[in-house]
This record gives sequence, structure tokens and C-alpha cells, in this order.
Amino acid sequence: MEDLELDPDTMEMPCPCEHCGNWFDLHDGYASEKWYQERNLVICEKCHEEEDAEIEDDDYWYDVNIELSNALYGLDKKEGAWDKLEKNNQVLIIDIVSKSKRTFTAEQVLAILEDTEHLDDAKMMFVRSEL
Ligand SMILES: [Zn+2]
Repeated sequence: MEDLELDPDTMEMPCPCEHCGNWFDLHDGYASEKWYQERNLVICEKCHEEEDAEIEDDDYWYDVNIELSNALYGLDKKEGAWDKLEKNNQVLIIDIVSKSKRTFTAEQVLAILEDTEHLDDAKMMFVRSEL
């Protein structure tokens, strides 16, 4: 990897990176694909690598969410779904929820469920009455 903090005086087209403020030669920059995409800006190599890792992470979670949606679709309507899940899947779900270090209030759970339209009206009435 080349020196990222070159002297602007020796650059052909010096420009400050929008993200980190360091100077880089425009020729060595990269078009931002996420952070400044709508403004069509060029960022330095270091920030490009950071942005790239973030995009990879976004893609990972996008795929995870699609796969989870496919796996979980309709499970809430199945009788005894939890007990039919394999133990290791139950453990994994419990582990993920407990590691989120979040405690949800009944109002928050309700808001999440309302958002995702996972509660029919009858269930919603029940949850509301429990609040
Ligand atoms: Zn930068």
C-alpha cells in the first residue's frame, strides 16, 4: 500500500478526503459507493477500504435477513413451532436475543410487531390488554 499521507504539493490533483480530511491525489481516489454516492464524491484509499468493508457487512446482513425471513415465514401460525425447532436452533435464538443486551418493554414489543404487521387485530387486542 502506498503512503496515504502524501504532501499535497507533490500531487497532481490534490484534494481533501470528504470523509477523513486527509489529502490524496484525485487519481488515487475511489468513487464513494455508499457514504457519498448521491453526491458522486471521491474518497481516499483508506476510507474506500473502510467503506468497502461496511458495504460487505451490509450485504451480509441483507442476505441474513432474507434467509431468516424465508425460514421464519409463517412460523408464528404453526402450532407448537418453538417446540418443533431443534434444540441448537432454540439455543441460538435465545443466545442472540440475550446478547443483544436489550430489554424490551411491552410497548416496544408492540411497536415492533405493529411495524412488521405480525399481529392480527385479535392478538393486538390481547397484547394491548396486557400492557
Ligand atoms: Zn479518507
